[in-house]
Amino acid sequence: MIRKIAVLTSGGDAPGMNACLRAVIRAGLYQGIDMYVIYDGLRGLVEGQIKQVNKDFTQDIINRGGTIIRSARLPEFKDPIVVERAADQLKDFEIDALVGIGGDGTFRGLNDLAKHGIKVVGIPGTIDNDVGSTEQTIGFSTALNTICECIDKLKDTSGSHQRCSLIEVMGRHCGDLAMYAALAEGAEGVICVEHPLKEDVLFRKLRKMKAQNKSHAIIIVSENLLDIHDLAKKIEEKTGFDTRTEVLGRLQRGGSPSAEDRVLAARMGAKSIELLLNDKCDSRIIGVKGGQIVDLPIEEAVNMKHEHTHGLRDLIDMLQ
Ligand code: ATP
Repeated sequence: MIRKIAVLTSGGDAPGMNACLRAVIRAGLYQGIDMYVIYDGLRGLVEGQIKQVNKDFTQDIINRGGTIIRSARLPEFKDPIVVERAADQLKDFEIDALVGIGGDGTFRGLNDLAKHGIKVVGIPGTIDNDVGSTEQTIGFSTALNTICECIDKLKDTSGSHQRCSLIEVMGRHCGDLAMYAALAEGAEGVICVEHPLKEDVLFRKLRKMKAQNKSHAIIIVSENLLDIHDLAKKIEEKTGFDTRTEVLGRLQRGGSPSAEDRVLAARMGAKSIELLLNDKCDSRIIGVKGGQIVDLPIEEAVNMKHEHTHGLRDLIDMLQ
């Protein structure tokens, strides 16, 4: 029988992690469970940074960005000895189950812990939306809104100077942020893993826009695919468009979570407690499918690849 549950946040921080933490803790307390937090992700777990919390701990955090229990990366968690140390810490505190909020890497770590007899549930929290077992992660909606706010502002200035703006966004393995932002902004171009750069097509289009005296052009690029400064120089040479680069960087991680992320966090957080208290459930990963909250065995979930949204790519091409 489960009496004590701990929760941690791990990997890159994402807006909505606090709202999820709140939901997990409150749903657990509602069921009469002793609730614990672990600071600094899996590293804090190995070090025993574990603290019992009550409802007051969750006051006024639903709208706060980042994660109040902090996050960390611990590459050494791939070492079975380190995993064993983490499992021993939970056993020392007599904690029966663990909720981990993070991305695919975090879920792999949780899966290793589950093999030590700890019941775990993973909740997808990462801005990139790159988790295979869910259609949406906590943090994606807020990050997308932040990107759009930045691009709206950039449009004002690039339109005033008839410029082309190259905007680098996060998502090195998954172009969802780039593609959704391109759709939401009506961008003239998007370059990401699912929609690679075709220089001749891009230059032809920009030359045509320049000839038509269009006020500005917006091109969105996923991080780490190419050097946007080199591309900007090439665009100037080949099209005559005065071109500037903007790297949005960690700004995309910050800010108060959107209402959509808060609601998703609440639904997933409450679900994690329901799953942990169900004796018939093994360790699971929570996700969204067709608007419904779903859960999958952890072994299955960690082997799923994020499905690229080919429909979205076609829509972007059609509307550009
Ligand atoms: P994000 O997508 O936001 O970066 P993430 O959870 O995928 O989130 P990672 O840095 O990949 O972020 O993983 C977080 C932590 O999970 C790592 O620092 C490490 O402690 C653990 N981890 C990652 N990969 C593995 C793995 N293959 N086996 C065991 N533990 C892992």
